[in-house]
Amino acid sequence: MNKDNRDSNGITLDPENWSELRALGHRMLDDMFDYIEHVRERPVWRPIPQAVRDHFRAVLPHQPIGVEDAYQEFSRFVVPYATGNVHPGFMGWVHGGGTAVGMLAEMLAGGLNANLGGRDHMPIEVERQIVAWAREMFGFPEGASGLFVTGTSTANLLAVLIARTAALGRATRQTGIAAESARLRAYTSTSAHICISQALEISGLGTDALRKLPTDARYRMDVAALRKAIAEDRAAGLEPFLVIGTAGTVDTGAVDNLAALSEICRQEKMRFHIDGAFGALAVWSPELAPLVRGIELADSIAFDFHKWGQVPYDAGFLLVRDGELHRDTFASPAAYLRRETRGLAAGSPWPSEYGPDLSRGFRALKTWFTMKTYGTDRLGAVIARTCALARYLEQRVRAEPMLELLAPAQLNIVCFRYRADDTLNAKIVADLHESGIAAPSTTSINGRMAIRAALVNHRTQICDVDALVDTVIRFGAASAPR
Ligand SMILES: *Cc1c(COP(=O)(O)O)cnc(C)c1O
Repeated sequence: MNKDNRDSNGITLDPENWSELRALGHRMLDDMFDYIEHVRERPVWRPIPQAVRDHFRAVLPHQPIGVEDAYQEFSRFVVPYATGNVHPGFMGWVHGGGTAVGMLAEMLAGGLNANLGGRDHMPIEVERQIVAWAREMFGFPEGASGLFVTGTSTANLLAVLIARTAALGRATRQTGIAAESARLRAYTSTSAHICISQALEISGLGTDALRKLPTDARYRMDVAALRKAIAEDRAAGLEPFLVIGTAGTVDTGAVDNLAALSEICRQEKMRFHIDGAFGALAVWSPELAPLVRGIELADSIAFDFHKWGQVPYDAGFLLVRDGELHRDTFASPAAYLRRETRGLAAGSPWPSEYGPDLSRGFRALKTWFTMKTYGTDRLGAVIARTCALARYLEQRVRAEPMLELLAPAQLNIVCFRYRADDTLNAKIVADLHESGIAAPSTTSINGRMAIRAALVNHRTQICDVDALVDTVIRFGAASAPR
């Protein structure tokens, strides 16, 4: 074996010529810096031509084309047709904008190619650092555990599984949940994200075990309705075990009365989980933190660093107060995963004991780089600014006679519509997307279609909000029947 990893057969995936790859790599980096620096000069999004799609219906590539040509294809066919959430005009769904620093961290993580399932290596200490910071952010105790996952959908699912262990005991991992589980009841609001229902489905408890309570005028879970539902269910011989509150609903940004929900759970001896997908990181802003008061009382919190935290996708996270219970839900012994006290197989407990994934990427690194580079005060200020922009958008909508506000700004989300029917509002949004000017999404508020702007991207400015409002009015007027 010589120094370039090539044996006598010459088979290796390392480059033939390192200096050529190095030059290409530097060009790629420069191209991506340009992409981010000049993002405003391009449309937010553009429709994908069929020929471009067809390019990715090719047969299995037995023969190499080389990295130069592969990069050409990426530049021509992928880059121009990306989601657009890097762009300041992207206001749809809840998408983070990412940063150039996060991109660099992804490259560094790719170079290390670390597997964070377990074993004794420093990348796991980086993840443990984020777990410790998350404990500190939410005032959780020393024994609390944490785990990076793909996103809040998965984090919510794991939280439901942990609550299931709390209710039914560890033995159900062996016996299954059939008989006794039929009595369990979980509670959330009609504003909860769809992944909560999916978590109940996947957990085997089923959506019949989930009661969706009505919301008040500000789209928060009706606390009196929750009390009543729990009492009814107990009277019927059922077993209420879990309340899932939301800190920042996906439709309107509403925050449930977390302190009241926590108090009910304490009295009723139920678990309290919070879906704080984006809203949880309001704790980084002294101005916004009071809005999520009570979050520190949860048994578990699911949230994303990839939304308001601006960490590149994906970086979901689950924080669990009772780390033992968390581990009891997932840890399994296996001979080939034997733990040692010395050597690379030391370092127990391993992250893989806290979730279903064994092989895991180094999501912690881009999160660590983002938090260290900017500091949570500055990240919090960015988050607060998106909320200020939402209030500005709300004012603009109120001032325009052709626009109607459907849900006032709560946190960073505003729902409004052009004064016309649902069909025309859907057309305005599709026209906006295709224009490349702005990309809001839609939702339904009290049965009426809303144009929904979620301001998440740290690059979004007043001028982008103005462009959204002005273009909605212009497109609406152009298509309105006269
Ligand atoms: C985005 C979001 C989710 C889902 O999170 P993913 O990271 O997309 O899986 C769940 N709940 C709320 C409130 C959200 O905003």
